[in-house]
Parts: sequence; structure tokens; C-alpha cells
Amino acid sequence: MAATNLSSFSSSIEKTCLFSPCPSQKPLSLPPKTLQKPFFSSKPSSSRFLSHTHKNPSKLLSKIPISDIVSSAKDPDEFYISCDEKPREECGVVGIYGDPEASRLCYLALHALQHRGQEGAGIVSVSNKILHLFTGVGLVSDVFDENKLDHLPGESAIGHVRYSTAGSSMLKNVQPFVAGYRFGSVGVAHNGNLVNYRSLRTMLEDKGSIFNTSSDTEVVLHLIAKSKAQPFFLRIIEACEKLEGAYSMVFLTEDKLVAVRDPFGFRPLVMGRRSNGAVVFASETCALDLIEATCEREVNPGEVLVVDKDGIQSFCLLPHPQPKNCIFEHIYFSLPNSVVFGRSVYESRHAFGEILATEAPVDCDVVIAVPDSGVVAALGYAAKSGVPFQQGLIRSHYVGRTFIEPSQKIRDFGVKLKLSPVRAVLEGKRVVVVDDSIVRGTTSSKIVRLLKEAGAKEVHMRIASPPIIGSCYYGVDTPSSEELISNRMTVEEVNNFIGSDSLAFLPLESLMRFLGACAPNYCYACFSGYYPVPPKDVKVKRVGDFVDDGVNGSLNCIDEEWVQASRDVAMRKVNASR
Ligand code: SF4
Repeated sequence: MAATNLSSFSSSIEKTCLFSPCPSQKPLSLPPKTLQKPFFSSKPSSSRFLSHTHKNPSKLLSKIPISDIVSSAKDPDEFYISCDEKPREECGVVGIYGDPEASRLCYLALHALQHRGQEGAGIVSVSNKILHLFTGVGLVSDVFDENKLDHLPGESAIGHVRYSTAGSSMLKNVQPFVAGYRFGSVGVAHNGNLVNYRSLRTMLEDKGSIFNTSSDTEVVLHLIAKSKAQPFFLRIIEACEKLEGAYSMVFLTEDKLVAVRDPFGFRPLVMGRRSNGAVVFASETCALDLIEATCEREVNPGEVLVVDKDGIQSFCLLPHPQPKNCIFEHIYFSLPNSVVFGRSVYESRHAFGEILATEAPVDCDVVIAVPDSGVVAALGYAAKSGVPFQQGLIRSHYVGRTFIEPSQKIRDFGVKLKLSPVRAVLEGKRVVVVDDSIVRGTTSSKIVRLLKEAGAKEVHMRIASPPIIGSCYYGVDTPSSEELISNRMTVEEVNNFIGSDSLAFLPLESLMRFLGACAPNYCYACFSGYYPVPPKDVKVKRVGDFVDDGVNGSLNCIDEEWVQASRDVAMRKVNASR
């Protein structure tokens, strides 16, 4: 690996090998190297500081000293519960190359990506060939302060926010991960889920690898360490060739920033540039906006972008299957001010609400939203139906995802703590309430009860997504299929269960019609049961497994019947709606 002194970097990066600004859906032609491979279709508790040094490769060999580890654990026995039953995005990533404020910009970008993961955050920076790492459990603002950012010097950095489970194993699973290899060090931050993690881990363990975490990302570091390819970034490419599933990753070495997106492009990853030439990668454009970087384009599915002092090189990782961008990014995960997969999230959600108003109209006096994720679709519904939108539910922004349960049970306590009905808007009214999705149905039933107790005469639920019938295996934490109410019940049965006067979902066919020519480029597996990359050796999701750090549970394969069964359910519903 070339030993380049970072202090000599120019903040203005030469654009010697730039790419064409094509959207992700277009086929790629990415010289100079094409690698061929067939492919089928909590609680705040602790933190750590770690510097990873590599000053003398010939002496250090594979043992890279960890210079400094800081941990600040709080009481591990505090009891937290969660009332939020939405699917959860498992991560957000950011990478910055060529800015003297790299770690501070990373910190700000992670703030913008906080909605993608609230249980852990970390940054690794590089200066003078030393990788400096700090990770902690909690919100970005809990984990970092001025002093900690002072200990993350250098002109390049990567960062990560994570959604994870509570428990003692939590901190060591917080990314970025940093590892030493024979000639240097590498840090990685990953958004997504590998479906062949178990088999890769077993293969690596059989060959002597020892794992420190239960994260699938660690297998990537082991694969890199085992590779003999030169130069170093080819090791990253070789490692990624063995991965199946979803991954948008950023890597940091002593002299390079590398961004990789899986061939299906499940999870988003965009590239931007600051006015001083610094190159930025981030999960969403909202992070670029915050640090005043101009979005240039997406990292294309199957693309590897290598940034160093000579500029940017683009490599084609694998043959390109049809992209399968996660449609849930537009339904729920991404912020409305982001542009994801080349589309405005705001415009998508507004259109979903308009479709619902057109295809599932109902006589009503007011349109309200389940805040915050239902707001834009509700605005679309109101605009199309001509019924006024009002704020009938107020979300408390001072309650985290988890909170301490009162010793005396209060009915619907969790929902009431987060959502307060506005009696003046609701009393005596026929109310359309728009939400982004229904998972188990328990929160929806509590919301309906809350609205009726506040005086609503009728409550009509309109859901800006199709019914969820299957778990996600590509980086989103969803419950087991048995827990998904739409996998067990018809729309009418769900309506009865939640107690609404009527219920309608965004039809899958209408969603695809809205996406037009791009429709085949999206993944709809949690609505259709058709999995673009079969979840062959990932953990089976069981009842109660919603919060999942991959530590517990079965190693068995998902059997074909299960996947097929879900698909059959979806097809029955599609046929029934015709
Ligand atoms: S299964 Fe659903 S949540 Fe997962 S990637 Fe596909 S569309 Fe997104």
C-alpha cells in the first residue's frame, strides 16, 4: 500500500478520472477495471476511543496496536421500553475526503442522518497515517463533544449512525470498525444487511478468523485481510465480490476514501463536493445540504469509487442486474427534503397521498397525519380531495424512541406520550388520518382509540404504502412475518382490529404505476414476498425478534416455502383487488 503523507494533501482535489453524471438506473460503463462475477437474483451507556496506528509496516505485520480505548458505561440495569413499531433503518453513513474540518463535517452530517439510527454513532479520521476512532452509544449529540472531535484530526473521515439493540454487546457493534492488516489499517462504515453473512463467517472461522462482534460488517474486514490483491483498494473490491445482499459502504485507509454500493443498489449512497473541492459521500442528500456540499450524483449500483490525492476513480464491481432500490426509503425512512434514487422524497409522498385520495375517497371534514412520517402524504391527500389539512395529532419531540415505563400501567401510555390529540380539530368531525405504514397494527389501534376519545365522530385510516407482508433482509429491522398484521389478516380484518371506520392502503400496482419506467428498478419484497436476493442463510425472524443485533436466534435457512407462502399471499391479494 502506498504510504502517502496526508498532510501534503491539497484541499482542492484534482478531477483526473471523473465519471459521467448518470443516474443509478442507467447501465454502467466504468473503466478501467471490470470484475466479473455471476450473481443471482437502548439506551445511552458507553463510548470508546481508539486510535489505530500504522507507522512501520515491516515491523508491525498483522498486529496493529490499539493505543487508546475509553469507555463510559452508565447503569446497565435501567429498564427501557419502546412504543415505536415502525420498521427501522439500520444505519446511515458518511465519508469526507480533503477537508481540514473532516471530522466536524462528519459530525454535522451524522446529525442530518440521525433519523437513520439513534442507538450508536462513530467517526474515524486519519492523519499522519494514523486512524483515530471514536464510537459511542446514543445520539450523535450524546456521543460527541468538542473535546472528542479535537481528538479526530485529519483531512479525511468516515462516520456512521446505527440502529441496534440494547444490551452489553451494543458498544462493540457500533461502527465504524477499524482493523489492522499486514500493511496498514482500514476503517469501514456499512448501511445494509448481508444475506450470506452466516456462511461467510463460518468459512472465515473455519480458516482461523476470530470475530469480535456480531455484526455482518466484520466479515468484510476479514475478507479484506485475507485478500492478497494489490493495490489495497483491489482487496476491497475482491472482498465485496463475495458479499450478497445490501451494502452501501465507505472505507477509510491511510491515503484513500473508498465508497461502494451493492449491485442491486438497495440502500442509497450519494456523492457531493464542497466548494473547497472536498469529496463527500452520504446516505442521503440532506447530509450534503447541511454541510454545504453540492450533490453530484448517486454512487451507482455495483460501483466502487476510490478517492485519493490523484482524484477519483470509478470501478465496476460486478455485472449489473436490474437495480432494486428500496422503495421504503421513499415511504418512510428518508427525510422528505432528501433526493433518493434520483427522486424527491417529498414529491413521492405527496403523490402517494394524492393516489389514496383518488383511489380510496371518503366523505370527511378534516385530513390529519400521524406525524412526522405521515405528514407529506396527508398534505397530498388533502390537496387532491379538497378537504382541509389540520394538525390533529401533535408529536412530542422531547421523547426519545425509548422511555422508562411507569410502575402503574396507563392504557396506551407509550402512544400518548408521543402523540397528543387536538380536541378542537377532532371533536364531532369525520377524520381521515394518514400514516405511512402499518406493521403490527397495535399502534394504529391506539391512535384510532386516541382520536375517538378526543371526540372524532368517524376515523378513516389511509396508509401511504401497500400492506407489509414480509420481513426485510436488506438492512431494515422488521418483525417476523407472523407479527405482521397484513400477513395474517385481510384489509377488512385489519380495519376491524384497529377499530377504524374504514381502512385503505396504497395499492402496489398504483405505486408501481407512479414509478413508471423506473418501477422495475425498485425492491417491493416486504409488500410482494418476492425477494430479489433470496434470504438464504440469514437468521429466521421470530416473534419478538423485532429488535435484532444478529446475536441471537437460529442459524437455519429461511426455507423456500416461507418465501413462497408470502408471495402467494401477495398474489392472492393482488388478484382479489382486480
Ligand atoms: S424488503 Fe422492503 S424494506 Fe427491505 S429493501 Fe425491499 S422494499 Fe426496502
